[in-house]
Amino acid sequence: MSLAHGRQYLAIPGPSVMPDRVLAAMHRAAPNIYGGALRDMTESLFPDLRRVARTTGHVAIYICNGHGAWEAANANMFARGDKALVAATGRFGIGWADSAHRMGVEAEVLDFGLNTAADPSRIAAALEADKGHDIRAVLVSHVDTATSVRSDIPAIRAAMDATGHPALLAVDCIASLGCDEFRMDDWGVDVMIAASQKGLMTPPGLGFVWFSDKALEASRRADLRTPYWDWQPRAFAEEYWQNFCGTAPTHHLYGLREALTMLLDEEGLEHAWARHATLARAVWEAFGAWSAGEDGIALNVAQSAQRSHAVTAARIGSGGAERLRTWCEEEAGLTLGIGLGMALPSEAAFGDYLRVAHMGHVNAHMVLGALTTMEAGMRALGIPHGEGGAAAAAAAIASAGSC
Ligand SMILES: *Cc1c(COP(=O)(O)O)cnc(C)c1O
Repeated sequence: MSLAHGRQYLAIPGPSVMPDRVLAAMHRAAPNIYGGALRDMTESLFPDLRRVARTTGHVAIYICNGHGAWEAANANMFARGDKALVAATGRFGIGWADSAHRMGVEAEVLDFGLNTAADPSRIAAALEADKGHDIRAVLVSHVDTATSVRSDIPAIRAAMDATGHPALLAVDCIASLGCDEFRMDDWGVDVMIAASQKGLMTPPGLGFVWFSDKALEASRRADLRTPYWDWQPRAFAEEYWQNFCGTAPTHHLYGLREALTMLLDEEGLEHAWARHATLARAVWEAFGAWSAGEDGIALNVAQSAQRSHAVTAARIGSGGAERLRTWCEEEAGLTLGIGLGMALPSEAAFGDYLRVAHMGHVNAHMVLGALTTMEAGMRALGIPHGEGGAAAAAAAIASAGSC
């Protein structure tokens, strides 16, 4: 017997749970890509993409995943031989640095480890040391999905401004957009990237780059721009095909339309931020109880102000994380995320880490269900843990009140 039969819950940090309405919106015959309904619908996406980023700036849509969005941003910000300063708080920051490096950009990495936010004063010190202003952009992950570390973007902007250095601030919001509070214009972000399959609740396949006028100006000298990745024709298209440099990603666009309506017009972005904050607290409370008196169990990020509201990375030692993931999937229909970048898959410690996603189309009963399932799994497997995790999560939900 397995108790996994029934609706599966994919609680990995992307792709996230897709609303049935998004899937239904995509279920249609191939539309004409030369005019009519598809073109009108696509036009409506651009203002809403600005709303979700809280910007009046520009946005380009690409047919790609997050790795493609990294390249898109790099291609438009840099010329070959330019320098980037990368604030790394986990595997994804390193990944963006690698992408820039392999495109011919010199990437200076400030490594903040795996448990703490990027330190604005170290970023400022690196900029101050760059007397010749060779650094063209500072690349930061808002949330590094591997570690679940969240960095303080306004604090980084303030530290950059205090140096008077002209570098652009470019932020990877692939994991955080639609989940954690983010305000591109108020926070002085020049370039921001996201992808469809996390907080935006749409299948993987769309990447987005938002950019300010300052970034547009800076891009004019970026010689890494190739026809496909150039943001200019996409953001300022005169003909519909230019929005996508060829055939439009027709069905993804219909899915995204539905997701943005749900997020912006029905729930409201600020309510979505509050929902994610509360769901995250429930996860932290459960781990707080499980880790009490246990060396083996710990949240990856000690300071709650530095934790993502979309995903939580944690350690369950002695291989407990891997055994628990397997149990949850096989016995209960719940798929948790693997530990990423904490140890190599070949290393013993790999089995000590997991991630719980609580991003996008996820509500209280799903998170409580996931946490209670994890507690059941720890009991079934004999993994030592403190009592009362599920109850602590329930209390966090109960005390949140309605918003
Ligand atoms: C998921 C993610 C990526 C990579 O996205 P892919 O679609 O897997 O290429 C990059 N950065 C962050 C912060 C992410 O969460």
